[in-house]
Amino acid sequence: MSSLTEQKPALYYNYVGGEWTESSSRERLESRNPATGEIIGFSQKSTVSDIEQAIDSVYDTFQKSDWGYNPKRRYEALLALAQKIDQNLEHLARVLTLEQGKTIRESRVELAGCVDTLKYFAGAARTVFGRSVQLEPANFGVIVKEPIGVVGLITPWNWPALLMIRELAPALAAGNGVIVKPASLTPGVSVEIFKLIDEIPDFPKGIASIVTGPGKSIGAAMGSSKKIDMISFTGDTSTGRTIMELAASNIKKLALELGGKSPNVVFADANLEKAIPVIGRGIFISAGQICMAGSRLLVHESVKDEVITRLKQYAENLQVGNGLLESTDMGPVVSQNQLELVEEYCEIGRREGTIITGGYRLTGGEYDKGYFFAPTIIDNLPVNCRVVREEIFGPVLAVQSFSSDEEALALANDTDFGLSAGVWTTNLNRAMRMSKGIKAGTVWVNTYNKNFPEAEFGGYKQSGLGRTRGIDGLMEYCETKHIHFEME
Ligand code: NDP
Repeated sequence: MSSLTEQKPALYYNYVGGEWTESSSRERLESRNPATGEIIGFSQKSTVSDIEQAIDSVYDTFQKSDWGYNPKRRYEALLALAQKIDQNLEHLARVLTLEQGKTIRESRVELAGCVDTLKYFAGAARTVFGRSVQLEPANFGVIVKEPIGVVGLITPWNWPALLMIRELAPALAAGNGVIVKPASLTPGVSVEIFKLIDEIPDFPKGIASIVTGPGKSIGAAMGSSKKIDMISFTGDTSTGRTIMELAASNIKKLALELGGKSPNVVFADANLEKAIPVIGRGIFISAGQICMAGSRLLVHESVKDEVITRLKQYAENLQVGNGLLESTDMGPVVSQNQLELVEEYCEIGRREGTIITGGYRLTGGEYDKGYFFAPTIIDNLPVNCRVVREEIFGPVLAVQSFSSDEEALALANDTDFGLSAGVWTTNLNRAMRMSKGIKAGTVWVNTYNKNFPEAEFGGYKQSGLGRTRGIDGLMEYCETKHIHFEME
C-alpha cells in the first residue's frame, strides 16, 4: 500500500490579505496518512497574534472593497471557484484521501458536492432579496438583507472540503468577509482550495483568509474575538457548547452544526432489497465518521432476524483498506485517538450487548500501519447504554427493536440529538406520521443521506443551531434592516 502514497510531504501556508504567510511561531503541525501512518504534510501552527492579524485584514478588505454591494462580482467569483474545483477534482480528491483516509470514490463525491454547492450559491448571490411594505398612509418600510461583516468558519476533519464550502459559499454569497480555521488533522484540502481562490481576480484580495493551527488556542480566539460578527462551527457538540460561551463576549451570531445519533427505522412492510445497502452505506460511509451517520437501527421485531442477517452480510463483504485503491469500500478512521475511542465503545458494547459482526481493530500486513477498524454491528443493548446514546464517529451500528409504531417513534426520539432520520415503510400514512413525529432536521423516507444545496439541513435539540444549505442557509449569513420612510 505504501507505494500508493510515496511522495514528498506538502508544506501549507496561511493565506491572509491575499498573501501566503508563515506563522509567527515558525512552528508546524504534521499531517499523517491514516492508512499508512506516513507524514504527508505540514501546516502552520499559528498563534493567537496570527489569527488577530488575519481578522483585521479580512475586516479591512470587507470595509474597503465593493464585495458587500456587488452581487454580480460575488456570482462570478463563486462560479469561477466551482469551475476550478471541477478542473482540479482528481488532484483535490487525492489530497483529501491521503490526509483523511476516506475512499477516493467518496472524495470525488465530496468534491463534486463542493462544485454543486458553489454553483447554487453563485446564483443565490443575485437573489438576496428583501421586501417593501406600506405601513401607514405616510409610512413606508423597506426591509433589506445585508452582510453581517466578518464571519469566522471553524471546520471539522471528517468532510473537510464540503463542510468548509457548505458554509464558505453562502457566507461569501451574502457579501461577508470570511476567515477559515480548518481542523488540524486535515488542513491540506482546504488550503488547496484557497490556492484556487487566489487565482480568481473577482475575489478581492483578503476577503477570504485561511489560518491553520490548534482549535483550543486560535479557534477559541476566534470565538471570543470582538471583531468577528458571526461564527459558523461544525464539529463536536461539546466544542459547540464552548463556542457558545466564548461568543457571548460580543453576542456574536452563531450557526452550529453539531453531532448526531440518527436512527434508521425499518418497518415490517419495508422494501428490504432497497433498504439494506442504503442503511449499510448510511453507517459505514467514511468509516462512520459523518455527523448524519445512521448509527442506530430501529427494526420491527418481525423482520429483525432477516435485517440483521442481511446487514451482517453487507458489512462482511465490504473491502476495508487504503482509500486510494479504487476497490476499497471503507478506509481507516482518521487517527490513533479515534481508533482507540471506537475500540472503547466496542468494549462497552461487548459487555452490555451482543456483537453481531466486527468489534475489533483490523491487524496484520498493511493494516498494522494504519487505523483500520472492522465494520461493526451490535445488538441487544440496553436503551441507556453509551453505545446507543453517544455519537461514536466510527463504523459501529447499534440495533434496537420495536413492536408498534408508537414504540418506534418513542425510540427514535429518545436521544439528545436531532440531526436526521430514515423511515423505511411502504405505507404512506405511517411514513407521514413518522416523518412529522420525529424531531430531526431531516427525515428521509425510503432513502438515506441524500443532500442537496437547495434543501435546508441542520439540527433539532443538541445537534445544532440554525440551518445550512438552501435559502435559510443563505439568510443565516445576513442581517435584516428595516429602512423607514415617512412622507410629508
Ligand atoms: P472538534 O469539535 O474538537 O473539532 C472541530 C473543529 O473545532 C476543529 O477545527 C478544531 O480544531 C476546532 N476546535 C477544537 N477546540 C476548539 C475550541 N475550544 N474553540 C474553537 N475551536 C475549537 O472535534 P474533534 O476534531 O476533536 O473530534 C472529536 C469528536 O467530535 C469526534 O469524535 C466526533 O464525535 C465529533 N465530531 C463531529 C463532527 C460533526 O460533523 N458532527 C465533525 C468532527 C468531529 P483542531 O482540529 O485544531 O482541534
